[in-house]
Amino acid sequence: MELHKENPFKIRSYSNAYLSLRKIEKPFTETSKEEIAGIRGVGKAIADKIHELIETGNLSAYQKYEAITPPGVIEMLGIKGFGPKKIQVIWKELEIETIGELLYACNENRLIDLKGFGLKTQATLKKQLEYYIDSRGKYHYDSVAGSAAELEEKINRAFPDDKSELVGLVKRMMPEVKGIEILTTADEQEIIEAIDGLGMNEDGTLLQYNTYPVFFNKVDSTSFGTEAFKQNSSEDFIECFETIPVSTDEQSLFDALQMAYVHPEYRESSIAYEQSKSNTLPTLIETSDIKGVVHNHSTYSDGLHSVDEMAMECMRLGYEYFVISDHSKAAFYANGLSEDRVIQQMDEIDQLNAGYKDFRIFKSIECDILNDGSMDYGDDFLKEFEIVIASIHSNLKMDMQKANNRLLRAIENPRTHILGHPTSRLLLAREGYPIDHALIIDACAANNMVIELNANPARLDLDWSWIPYALEKGVKISINPDAHSKDQIRYIEAGVCAARKGGLTKEMCLNAMNRVEFGKWVDSLQD
Ligand SMILES: [Zn+2]
Ligand SMILES: [Zn+2]
Repeated sequence: MELHKENPFKIRSYSNAYLSLRKIEKPFTETSKEEIAGIRGVGKAIADKIHELIETGNLSAYQKYEAITPPGVIEMLGIKGFGPKKIQVIWKELEIETIGELLYACNENRLIDLKGFGLKTQATLKKQLEYYIDSRGKYHYDSVAGSAAELEEKINRAFPDDKSELVGLVKRMMPEVKGIEILTTADEQEIIEAIDGLGMNEDGTLLQYNTYPVFFNKVDSTSFGTEAFKQNSSEDFIECFETIPVSTDEQSLFDALQMAYVHPEYRESSIAYEQSKSNTLPTLIETSDIKGVVHNHSTYSDGLHSVDEMAMECMRLGYEYFVISDHSKAAFYANGLSEDRVIQQMDEIDQLNAGYKDFRIFKSIECDILNDGSMDYGDDFLKEFEIVIASIHSNLKMDMQKANNRLLRAIENPRTHILGHPTSRLLLAREGYPIDHALIIDACAANNMVIELNANPARLDLDWSWIPYALEKGVKISINPDAHSKDQIRYIEAGVCAARKGGLTKEMCLNAMNRVEFGKWVDSLQD
């Protein structure tokens, strides 16, 4: 509707309705039209449309706009930080209708003289476009991993006399993967015929399983281990080897070299090679090592579930403690907490804690680091929290110096304890602001600050490649789901996968501490 310059009031009413509806848990199929119309911000007109969607599976109002909008223009909406107003101008003024044309126009400087644009906007857009194009055909590890394991199992069940293994980027637990890679001694055509759900895409160009691309690699059984090793190791790791013996499986390959077996996800650098040779490999962290769930949101800010519901879910999953860190007041778009509402939440936590025996909720906040590096609450008020997570959410367009200074000031503030998602990147959608990782990690070491590995599969920030440096400096890592609903607590698993790539051990992971140890750490922050 924004692309077509519809009435702004009409557009606003849809946004408001969306914000209300996303909080409703009861399926709309079980909700009457009158009930839906009675929801705040919805009204009869939108209730009718929801009803139409439920009854027919179609929404004629949407189809009307879809029919008059080129697909490439709709695709442009997927480019982060580039809203419908700007797309409207590009489409109507320059008659650009595809992403490719748009990149070409940037290179030809055709956007500079456009209303609302300029040299800087064009440069930013060009960077975002290149990132977007580079990201196409890639997926978050977490979304592919389940299907990949399922396919591997199906193939092994159907071809028990052959050998088939998942290899490549998924096996290495890379945050971004291009699909499912399988190494096999079986015949590809026979596999395709035998496996349900495995087949070509609509235009017959790509083999797919559960909509993810699948790539087969055939090898004979005598060199299966050698080929698997090559596909499961980074170039840096392989370069350390003078010779790679021919072997049937990876374990015997390491045995032949008198080296300790290195997990594929950790075969990233010469560090792993040296540790393997000297038998000093770290015991990589596992999901079962995580004892508490740190950094979560509730209905107080932009979460979907109450503090109580979130805590109950953590208990059900076997965790010993739960750290609630809603947004601070500057995050108005996320219903950030005023001081009064913080006090209200703390009272609620006290009441809940009084009812627990072997569980505890810790009082925390995800406090915004403001534009100048100061914190969103005064020092006296920050003292009220047991743990303060400091994160940047606004004015993300910064050069490295600005970003460094902003973070350094927050890290040096004695009232902050954990640095949240250091670059604020969104994998496959938005590059983070540039930071000097070594400088930031050094500052965290000097100020006794823990660094978050935000476990949201689209963040995984701190990037795993900086974990070795953090460990070298003695900085602990906290694997935080940043859960905005009960089901997102499981993001911890994706965080653990990334942490293993960086060689994290349970000893250096903040939330691998049990409830008593963690409580002691929290007490130590109050001094
Ligand atoms: Zn955040
Ligand atoms: Zn958060």
